[in-house]
Amino acid sequence: MGGLAVRVRRRRDQRRRVRDVPGGDVARRLRPGDGRQLLGVGRLADRRPVRESPPDGALHAPVSPDRPLVRHKLWPTNSGGPADLFAVFCTTDPAAGDEGFAIVYVPADTPGVAQGKPYRKAGMSGDWNGDVWFDNVRVPREFRAHRPGTDAKAARAFISSANVGTAAQCIGVMRNIYEILKNWCDTRVVAGKPLKEHTITAAVLADIVVAVETSRAETYLKARMLDRPDVYGPRHSPQMLARTRVTKLYASDQLTSVANKAMDLMGSFGYAREGDLEKHWRDSKILSLWMGGRALPQLDIARWYFDAHSY
Ligand SMILES: Cc1cc2nc3c(=O)[nH]c(=O)nc-3n(C[C@H](O)[C@H](O)[C@H](O)COP(=O)(O)OP(=O)(O)OC[C@H]3O[C@@H](n4cnc5c(N)ncnc54)[C@H](O)[C@@H]3O)c2cc1C
Repeated sequence: MGGLAVRVRRRRDQRRRVRDVPGGDVARRLRPGDGRQLLGVGRLADRRPVRESPPDGALHAPVSPDRPLVRHKLWPTNSGGPADLFAVFCTTDPAAGDEGFAIVYVPADTPGVAQGKPYRKAGMSGDWNGDVWFDNVRVPREFRAHRPGTDAKAARAFISSANVGTAAQCIGVMRNIYEILKNWCDTRVVAGKPLKEHTITAAVLADIVVAVETSRAETYLKARMLDRPDVYGPRHSPQMLARTRVTKLYASDQLTSVANKAMDLMGSFGYAREGDLEKHWRDSKILSLWMGGRALPQLDIARWYFDAHSY
């Protein structure tokens, strides 16, 4: 997302300026969704892990590009070593709404930036996730991605796209689980016949297919809607944010349920590494947890569909 902001939206001289800092060339190379070396840093908090978190994209830190960043962020993708440029989401004025929100690029070697070791997670091991501290960090004004108002739109547009992208990931995992299960239920014989020939198993298999098919249909629909802002409105609109939150919430819930059901059908072989399923089981849960857990998508959905204002 940060790379996209540099590539597409910034003036040519700004692009050159960011490219010339350590790590800046990474931003230039990246395409939306790459995220290999660039972080979508979701929230700034105190120097200790803070539990009263604001929604992704609505971040409470009294900073601006020309004032020092003095807070702490947990978990961003490729923290703890690999990243050399951070896209930091922050608020310059919590009371100012969109106008008080900023995306600021911070090279990892900027004085005052410190990182902890990556956490040891259940799965998703290809992604490193640690702490990042900002201790009186200053970057040039040009390292702001856009300008007041536009930064918030870019962040919301990113979250809308990432909702659909996460749902697509869920579908990929579910389809592979289906393939593993198909082979298992063809070959595993219990009580004298293949597992799939037992009606009690058939019912579970059917539910799994329903989950995959409905998730795919929902994801294609929202991808199509994001592609047609002339019909459905811009992807940064609260409406598209809420509608794509539905997609992410639904597909990731289906994946959690499908992975669990598949393990039930495979028994201990599903729990064993040799069964190829347990990695999906460990990896899959984070797809429902990231981008705000289950609660923040629910809040965004209720906020738009029920016109709620207090959260
Ligand atoms: C592999 C991986 C990659 C990640 N990549 C990134 C990244 O690139 N950028 C980034 O910014 N973050 C990233 N994260 C962090 C991830 O987005 C957060 O961990 C996730 O949003 C949940 O936040 P949390 O862990 O702070 O949980 P908490 O905020 O502590 O949530 C705890 C519980 O409180 C609920 N909750 C939170 N806020 C509210 C509220 N306002 N009202 C009611 N309930 C609430 C949550 O739903 C959850 O049930 C990544 C994490 C992992 C593991």
